[in-house]
Amino acid sequence: MFQQTQTYDFLYIQRVAQAKFAHMITSIIRATNLKKIYQVGETQVNALDGLDVEIERGAYIALMGPSGSGKSTLMNVLGCLDTPTSGVYILNGNDVSSLSDDKLAEIRNKEIGFVFQTFNLLPRYTALENVALPMIYAGIPYTYRISRAEKVLQKVGLGDRMDHRPNELSGGQRQRVAVARALVMNPSIILADEPTGNLDSVTSDGIMQLFSEINKDGNTVIVVTHEEDIAAHAEKTIRLKDGKLA
Ligand code: ADP
Ligand code: MG
Repeated sequence: MFQQTQTYDFLYIQRVAQAKFAHMITSIIRATNLKKIYQVGETQVNALDGLDVEIERGAYIALMGPSGSGKSTLMNVLGCLDTPTSGVYILNGNDVSSLSDDKLAEIRNKEIGFVFQTFNLLPRYTALENVALPMIYAGIPYTYRISRAEKVLQKVGLGDRMDHRPNELSGGQRQRVAVARALVMNPSIILADEPTGNLDSVTSDGIMQLFSEINKDGNTVIVVTHEEDIAAHAEKTIRLKDGKLA
């Protein structure tokens, strides 16, 4: 009897360990009971209200929901720009729920590539310099930075625009530079918060095509949008409402 119980316990522990290990391999993101509470004067805003999210490595996800539903808040937490008020966030097998700002910045530089609605390029820098910038922060040598930045700009179709400054590029081209900058450190995840919000529909389609190609190369991509036809480019849609899954 005693023997049996011991065997059972051992198998149980082994199963739990295996399940944990399997998750670390397949899930790039595992977030459990995420809450983000903002206190504004007397009012408490539950921007994330006990959210569970699990995303497989190599997925292409559209994140949708009405304005104010918590999409940007979730992107900021998943992208390690901000920490949740409570809950557990496992990124690529590491618990990043409550790291210091310095540690978070380090993880962000290595694991996350961001693309924003407003491109957020440095206006005085060329496309090449903008794309090379994250590698300066990472301490990568000059010659490697240049050749890597050139390669990624070619990948996004801007091989002939590398010396242009942002104001010498169209909106779609600026966003391609931003995508190249997001890719340059070879991150685990590309997070894009309404990347087509400032673009016309044809240009938007081109950017979403580009995300599809990047995804086919094996990158995990999460794109926030409020347009169904933009979301249709992704493999799967996650919907938010009032800080919860809808
Ligand atoms: P979405 O991106 O879906 O439009 P957000 O994540 O930006 O939504 O916002 C979710 C909720 O949290 C909204 O009610 C918003 O007003 C509130 N919120 C977002 N950021 C802050 C902040 N820094 N301080 C206070 N409230 C915020
Ligand atoms: Mg938003």
